[in-house]
Amino acid sequence: MDLLEKCRAYAWADEVRDAGLYPYYPAFQGAVEGGQAVLDGAEVCMLGSSNYRALSSNLQVVGAAQDAIALYGTSTTGSRLLNGNLDLHEELEADLANYLGFEAALLFSTGYTTNLGVVSCLAGRGDQVYLDEKAHASLIDGARLSAAAGAAVLQFRHNDPDDLARQLATAPTRSALVATEGVFSVEGDLAPVPELVAVCEEYGATLLVDDAHGVGAIGRGRGVIHHFGMGGRVPLMTLSFSTSLASQGGAVLADARTIDYLRHTSRPQIFSSGLSPADTAAAHASLREIRRRADRASDAVAAAEHLRAALDAIGFDVAGSDSPVVPVRFSDQVAVLTAQRVLVDHGIHTSALLPPACQGYQLRIACTAAHTPEVLDAVIGVFAALREDLLSNPRRVA
Ligand code: PMP
Repeated sequence: MDLLEKCRAYAWADEVRDAGLYPYYPAFQGAVEGGQAVLDGAEVCMLGSSNYRALSSNLQVVGAAQDAIALYGTSTTGSRLLNGNLDLHEELEADLANYLGFEAALLFSTGYTTNLGVVSCLAGRGDQVYLDEKAHASLIDGARLSAAAGAAVLQFRHNDPDDLARQLATAPTRSALVATEGVFSVEGDLAPVPELVAVCEEYGATLLVDDAHGVGAIGRGRGVIHHFGMGGRVPLMTLSFSTSLASQGGAVLADARTIDYLRHTSRPQIFSSGLSPADTAAAHASLREIRRRADRASDAVAAAEHLRAALDAIGFDVAGSDSPVVPVRFSDQVAVLTAQRVLVDHGIHTSALLPPACQGYQLRIACTAAHTPEVLDAVIGVFAALREDLLSNPRRVA
């Protein structure tokens, strides 16, 4: 059997396509505006993105990206360490650090490589990594690299500081990294940051909060750490620019010594090109807008609360709280794929998540500032009208 035999034998996607239920890689035509996107020539309400502040087509953000291309060109053409460093990068790092309450920041080319680069660089032989069991794949993959370098990687129960404390109490050394999401991207709940801080401080562990889904949307825009009044108590924070900052890229925030260490030793940082001028400028323009309009930060959360309550009342199994993410749970793969298809046929785009992206079967619905009560009431009307179709699963996948 040659290496590619597994690819030739791979049947799952074809089976789902043949059943007319394939939901992945939809090709949208154009930008999302006012919460609406165009799919197969028809308008759909975009409830599957993490564009919480609806800034991806904001005129200032788009203009900043255009101006950066005009002035800096399209590429950094190399690693920042050598030739790809721009004043744009350093200005964004300074503003992020200042806004989020850390000494320094370091950009990476995606949120994924941020987590990969931070975890794998900081934890190695003789260290332990404790992951919330529902932590994002990028934190898990960073920990896998740490394990390859000799770290012990363990999990604690989701949002359970007591379980973490029990494990840290018997840990062989105090050289531990504890990693969690701030707002869980799939479950839509918040990490208990004060309790995690207390446990980490008691056992001398270093806490990393990945707040990809909190910055912009929680804590008047400053994320989950500030939402809980824990500024200055969490030593490491990461974020993605592909959510509220409406761009591409990511960043880690920490004390200046840690950032300098990462700048010189984190492999995804030094062996990959600097963030493009357009992405850097767009993220910076979004950050300015988020700072300027702290009063709009909770719009997406308020929209999600409205939708969550209505779907619950109609009889859907909804979860999540205090965040823009509304998970709707289904019994199995066919049920969730059928629901996704029925909704898209009626002008609503949501994301169907299956294992390993989540531990069950769910539609991930995410609200943004563009989802006004009128838009959501129309969505709720569709859910109500289709309740029977959505909750039954008439189509079968082979
Ligand atoms: N962390 C979390 C919690 C995420 O949900 C994601 C995906 N949006 C990432 C990291 C990776 O971010 P990016 O898309 O910028 O690679």
